[in-house]
This record gives sequence, C-alpha cells and structure tokens, in this order.
Amino acid sequence: MRPEILFPLFAPAASLKGVGPKIAPLVERAAGPLVRDVLFLSPQTLVDRPVTTIAEAREGEVQTFRVRIDAHIPPARKSLPYAIRCADETGFIFLSWFKGYGQHLAQSHPPGAMRAVSGKAERYGAQLSIAHPDYLLPIERADDIPRHEPVYPTTAGLPSRTLRRIALSALERAPDLPEWQDPAWLARHGWPSWRDAVAALHAPISAADLDAIAPVRRRLAYDELLAHHLAMAQRKAERRAHPAPPIFHDARTDEIASALPFKLTGAQIRTVAEIGGDLASGERMSRLVQGDVGSGKTVVAMLAMADVAAGGRQSALMAPTEILARQHFETIAEPLEKAGIHAVLLTGRDKGVERAAKLRALTSGQVQVAVGTHALFQDDVLFDALSLAVIDEQHRFGVSERRRLQAKGEGVHLLALSATPIPRTLELTLYGDLDVSRLDEKPAGRKPVTTTAAPTARLPEIVGRLRQAIAGGAQAFWICPLVSESEVLVDVTAAESRAATLRQALGERTVGLIHGKLPPAEKDAVMAAFAAGDISVLVATTVVEVGVNVPNATIMVIEHADRFGLAQLHQLRGRVGRGAAQSSCLLLYDPPLSATGQARLNVLRETEDGFLIAEKDLELRGGGDALGLRQSGLPDYRFVDPVAHRDLMIAAADDARLILHRDPKLETPRGQALRVLQALFDWKPDGGWSAAG
Ligand code: ADP
Ligand code: MG
Repeated sequence: MRPEILFPLFAPAASLKGVGPKIAPLVERAAGPLVRDVLFLSPQTLVDRPVTTIAEAREGEVQTFRVRIDAHIPPARKSLPYAIRCADETGFIFLSWFKGYGQHLAQSHPPGAMRAVSGKAERYGAQLSIAHPDYLLPIERADDIPRHEPVYPTTAGLPSRTLRRIALSALERAPDLPEWQDPAWLARHGWPSWRDAVAALHAPISAADLDAIAPVRRRLAYDELLAHHLAMAQRKAERRAHPAPPIFHDARTDEIASALPFKLTGAQIRTVAEIGGDLASGERMSRLVQGDVGSGKTVVAMLAMADVAAGGRQSALMAPTEILARQHFETIAEPLEKAGIHAVLLTGRDKGVERAAKLRALTSGQVQVAVGTHALFQDDVLFDALSLAVIDEQHRFGVSERRRLQAKGEGVHLLALSATPIPRTLELTLYGDLDVSRLDEKPAGRKPVTTTAAPTARLPEIVGRLRQAIAGGAQAFWICPLVSESEVLVDVTAAESRAATLRQALGERTVGLIHGKLPPAEKDAVMAAFAAGDISVLVATTVVEVGVNVPNATIMVIEHADRFGLAQLHQLRGRVGRGAAQSSCLLLYDPPLSATGQARLNVLRETEDGFLIAEKDLELRGGGDALGLRQSGLPDYRFVDPVAHRDLMIAAADDARLILHRDPKLETPRGQALRVLQALFDWKPDGGWSAAG
C-alpha cells in the first residue's frame, strides 16, 4: 500500500503542467510514466550563462547580454541570415537567424526596445554575433534566463529546456516527506533534507554539483541504496523465519575430511563452519559460496552433504552440464562411500530400468546423495527426506529451477556455489538477501600461471611453440573472442577458421572445436574427448566458461584478449594451472592497446586473486560502463554510481541490518518514514534472488 503523502508523485507525468498528449509519450521515454520519474530525472550537464557586456564578451562562450535593439538587417540573398544589430554602452552585437524568421522578428523586437539575449557569442573579424540565440526576451523578463541552466538528457522532439520546465513543475508537486535518515548521519555528511535535495538536483550551479560525489547526489544515492538494502534485509529475515530440521555436525564428517589427500584451506574450514552453523540453526539456510575456480568448492559441499547424511537426511547436488555432474560424482562418491554414505549420479542419459532403480533408491532413502543435472528436478524424482540442495555454478540456473529442487523436500536448505568472485560492494548489492561465504584462499601447492601478452602478429611463432608443447604431451585451450552477443554466428566463424588453421599446422585429429551453436550432447562429447586427452588443443568460444576440470591442460591462449572483461579473462585463465605442471596463459591482442586495455592486461599479469581482480575490474570500468555492470545483474539504479558510491553501498547494508534489528516491523516513527522511502523507490520486500521465500 502506497502512503497517501506520495500520491502526488505517483500521478501520471501527463498530469504535469505543460505535458499535453503530444509530448506525454516523449516525457515517458525520457523519464518514465510518473511525476516521480520526472522528478528523479537528473540533469547531465550545466550551461553557465554569465551576464556580461559586449566589450567583455568571451569568444565561443555562452553568455547573457542586456541590449537595445538597434536595427534590423533583412538578408540580401536567401542564403544569408536575417540579422538584428543590438547595442549596449560598450559596443554592437549581431543576432542572426537562418531561414525565414524575419517577419516575426521585425514585429516583436522593434528598434529601441530593451532586450535580454543569451547564447554562444562568436567573433567574425571585428564583429561579435550570436547565431540563433537561446533566449531573446523583453528586459523585464531577464530573470527568466537562468544563470546556470541544467541540461537534461534529450529525446527526439523534446528539448532540454522543455524537460527542465516539466521537471520544475514536478518539483512543485514534491511534498516535504518525513525524514527517514538518521539525523546524526545527515549532519555528519552535511546532507540536505530530501525535499531540499531534489530541489537542488534541478538547480545545480556548478559542474561539481552534478558530480556523483556532490552531497546532494550522495544523499539521493544513499536513499536509494537504503531502500534497496532494507528490502533485501527484510527478505532475508522473512526467509529465516521458515523452520528447517536442525542438522548437527557429525564426527564422521571430520573423518571424511581427514582422509582426503590434502588439507583443507583456512577459507574452506571457515566456510564449512559457516554452513554448519546454518544447518544447525533450525532455520532454513540460504548461503552462497563464492570462490575462484579451483578454490575447492566441491569439497566444501561434500562435507555439508556428509553432515546431512549423518543426520539421516538427503542432499542433491545439481550441476549445469552432464560432464560437470559426472566430475562431481567422481570426486565425492568414493570418500562418501568409505564413510557408508551412498551417492548416485542422475543425468538425462539415465533411462529405463537403471533410472528406475536409482529413483527407487532415492525414494526409499537407501541413497543419501544425488548428483546430477536438470534431470534431478523432474517430477518423478522423489526423495525420502531431502534437506539440502546444492546448486553448482548458480548463475546457470534460474529462480524457478532452484525452487523446483527445493520443493522436493520440507525446509530444504540451499547452498549455491559461484565461481565468479565479485567485489565486496557488489556482493552486498547482488546477494544482500543471502549469506555469503568467500573462499578467498587457494589450495596449497598450486603453481602460479605464467601470464604474458603478445601481439597477434606473432601467431606463427606461437603456433610453432604450441606444436612442440603438444608433442611433449601438453594440452591447450585456444579461446576465440566473442565479437558481439548478437552475432553468435560471426564468433562461430572465427572459431571455425582458427580451428582450421590450427588443424593444418598441428594435425587434423589434434584439434577439437567447441562453440555455443553446438548441440549440448556434442559439446559434452568434445569436452569429454579433451578431458580424456584424445585431443590436444581445444578451440573454443567462451563456452568453456563453466568449471570443467582438465588438470593436464597447461596452456591457455586467448585471442583478442583486449575484448574480454578482466573477470572473464581471469575465469578463462583459471582453466589451467590445476595440475602439478607449470602452466601458462598467453593473451593475444591487436596493437595499439588503449590505456585501459593495457591496464587490464597488467592487472592479470600481476595477480591471480579473483577478488582483487574483480575490484580492479570495477575500478577500470568505472561507473560509466553501465552496460557491463547491468549485465552483472546490478539493479537499474537512478542515483547510485556503483564505483563512486561504493562506501555508501557498504554503509547502507549495515544500516539496513541495524534498522531491522531494532525495528523489525518498521513501526517506529523512523520505521514509518522508511516505508515511505521504500514506496518512493518501489523496493518491495518480495522478488529478488531468492524469492522462493
Ligand atoms: P572449484 O572451486 O572450482 O569447484 P573444485 O572443487 O573442483 O574447485 O576443486 C579443484 C581441485 O582442487 C580438485 O581437484 C580438488 O580435489 C582440489 N582441492 C580442493 N581443495 C583442496 C585443498 N584444500 N588442497 C588441495 N587441493 C584441493
Ligand atoms: Mg566447481
């Protein structure tokens, strides 16, 4: 329910003064359908119109003059402009218009009349002139010419000045709203009230006022962040309220861990403990484990599943592809079996009697762990007591798929695994409604991947070295770039022709090709052949993104590395360096590299820490690359700049938690004001990542 005080802002934009049926659609395109949207439309730049005299006018700058109309000079030829000569005490200035303005001008600006005129002044020889002045008004209305004029993002047919007028009438509708921010916090930052902030938004007086770090902008960004984070925190609290049978840590799980051929990393131990706490809490877990490729997420999931099995209940581990599911099964089945825990693999390949037997084992509870693909959430897959759903490569699954798996039991705990490390600030924003564990430590003994960059021109030499390496038994990935999302076919062609040249150089059966247009079964087959060592070089578009483990692959070549994002390059590089041998990653580029391109490749050469790389990626992209950030799943914020407002993102997450802790139902006066804030931004506590409830 929307608070009454907001009604004026939620009226259609078409109800604003000066928005007729003709321009209403344009306003909607530029701002949105509501008065609120017009009010929230931020000016992008500013035109300064200093008042000056003709003698002191500055060439090429926008200025305002107070003049007397001196004479009209109709054009001698059609190609010449209509001109009016004006004067002040210091000199003359010519105003000019092309194409048929004459008649109208002669009548409305008779000689002797006093006028205020504003526009860009230019000098031709000794003559100062303004072509098509922005303003030409009777001197009594000089105040209508803004000293500082905000410029709005224009839509065809809707000039900035019209938008400004409409924005100002939206501002007239803006009520004083109850303050939802902590007064001490406002005072500390020197932030204005909300009403003053929106007023100032439309009345900047310097370029600095338009900057993301201006107090007004920060106040509005913080409002928006707080509304969003509050909604996420509410969602989290609501989900916690769902009971789930507590599952306690079991000593047998420790035995499984100590029987592993390696020691868990500190980050793994911490994450296992965090998961254990959730499972024992009696509330439903919703936890995301974020960790680089190779950080050891599977083991962590396995240990959680062991606790669940010890508690007499079942787990399901779902992977996006059959080959991944198989790999997981091979990793975990044996250590679990030794502890008396039975696992089955269930994929689309299972048919007939065998499948029926597996399903029976799950339904009867004979088997405690199911590993599989989408096949796991088919309707006829029934569990005896499913208590934990593990989703690997969680971004590959939709909300509904996750829900379908969770729906196969009562109070099923959710553990999602993600191999895409993201910056802390974005993590708060994207996954604020989840608990997050970070596997930010590499298992001991991993050799760093040697990373170098080279121009594409050195290709022949590189292919020569590759030939030697594969003769010695090495395997290599060769990645062709994504030219554009909409032109998958172009990418396929690029990959196909690269595969062809490599086959010529290295031998027909040495080189495999995999790309997004291949049917899934064929993809799996090529991948399996590579994993088995039947082919030495795998040419691929970015489909190898998903976490396939081929420890023998030690070479990664990435063509046009400058076209990939930093995080993506890091992910690709993570495909190698998984075995005992030294691995290398070669980044090919077409010179010249832009400064940012250079900086990106440098970051990759300097570090393998996915979290650090993600932070650098965000910095290098800046807030300007809204598209890239939006693709990362970030909400379409109105005021928030994910780079400039990073500190505010962290503060808002803390603030939201604290607010709900003190006032879970938002009933205090501040709580009520916060509800107004949420309604203002439309952030509701439903929807979002884990809308499963
Ligand atoms: P990812 O996080 O990419 O899913 P995996 O779970 O597939 O990583 O683990 C990658 C490899 O590292 C596996 O072969 C696994 O057995 C191994 N591994 C996991 N944890 C450790 C560890 N603490 N020490 C050494 N090797 C480990
Ligand atoms: Mg994995």
